Amino acid sequence: MKKHNFYAGPSILDQSVIKETACAVLNFAGTGLSLLEVSHRSKEFDAVMTEANQLFKELLEIPEGYEVVFVGGGASMQFCMVPFNLLNKKAAYLDTGTWSSKAIKEAKLFGEVDVVASSKDKNYTYIPKNYTVPEDVDYFHYTSNNTIYGTEIRKDPDVKARLVCDMSSDIFSRPIDVSKYDIIYGGAQKNLAPAGVTFAIVRKDALGHVEREIPTMLKYTTHIDKGSMFNTPPVLPVYSALQTLKWYKEMGGVKAMQKLNEEKAAILYDAIDNSKLFVGTAEEDARSLMNVCFVMKDEYKELEAQFADFAIKERGMMGIKGHRSVGGFRASLYNAMPKSSVEALVACMKEFEQKH
Ligand code: PMP
Repeated sequence: MKKHNFYAGPSILDQSVIKETACAVLNFAGTGLSLLEVSHRSKEFDAVMTEANQLFKELLEIPEGYEVVFVGGGASMQFCMVPFNLLNKKAAYLDTGTWSSKAIKEAKLFGEVDVVASSKDKNYTYIPKNYTVPEDVDYFHYTSNNTIYGTEIRKDPDVKARLVCDMSSDIFSRPIDVSKYDIIYGGAQKNLAPAGVTFAIVRKDALGHVEREIPTMLKYTTHIDKGSMFNTPPVLPVYSALQTLKWYKEMGGVKAMQKLNEEKAAILYDAIDNSKLFVGTAEEDARSLMNVCFVMKDEYKELEAQFADFAIKERGMMGIKGHRSVGGFRASLYNAMPKSSVEALVACMKEFEQKH
């Protein structure tokens, strides 16, 4: 049975990325050694890091004055690195889900946090509107895609304050205007690489304005100055990230990804909206293209476990169970997800519906 990978993260990577990584594990860049056993200071790996950095900048059209760093610690480490490096007195945060709340919790260790709006009152099923970001804050932080709740902010916001965004689960899914941001960060394990590497796009002149001492490893300048090689970087995930970036370029870049993502999400949302059994959980204008969350309508709730069983065990729809805080189902349609898998999921939903 063909398996379709709907996991939310770590999640699907293009087959070419997996194959190239597997080959390098056996013989890296013709060295006769495995990628797992070569020095990160070797000229072969140095070339990987350099190319990954260049391609990252090229694909997102990152302007002058910014640097991209690859570090460890996950996006969760960025929740504290951002305030450590930027927060003097007060920061503004938008609370749109579990990951935003976790970022807020860390920021509170460093200063005052103004939560400008929250969608917690309706279990994060919408994106708050009509809030204002005070101009006197050190920065405004938001999460562009709420992986757990399936909501997304796809327009780069216009704010006067410095802008920081957690793009863990929708980076490279569409073009972004990087010049509006001071820091964009994310874990790689959705649209970039296997787990283990974290990226941060940093406007250099946003740094150096806090008075506190920052531990060396938590200082962005440490990693910028050393080209992400201050200490041993996560070699294998960086290698895989490069393969994904090459694949994006071959596919036509982030604009092509956006078109594909819009098409894929439309197929699934359309099926949900026209279904007798299923209903989407996110408000329509907040729907994510990356994580499609849906449940059984109240009158069919008792069929939920049965559908999960059928879809996973009989039709190979892996990872479609919703996060425990939402329940139901979540189909993650990251960049590497082929349209054919989305069509297979829709066929599986229709088949189940016909039987019930
Ligand atoms: N932010 C978002 C939007 C996420 O989806 C996740 C992980 N699923 C995180 C942060 C935390 O990332 P990590 O596990 O890399 O710390």
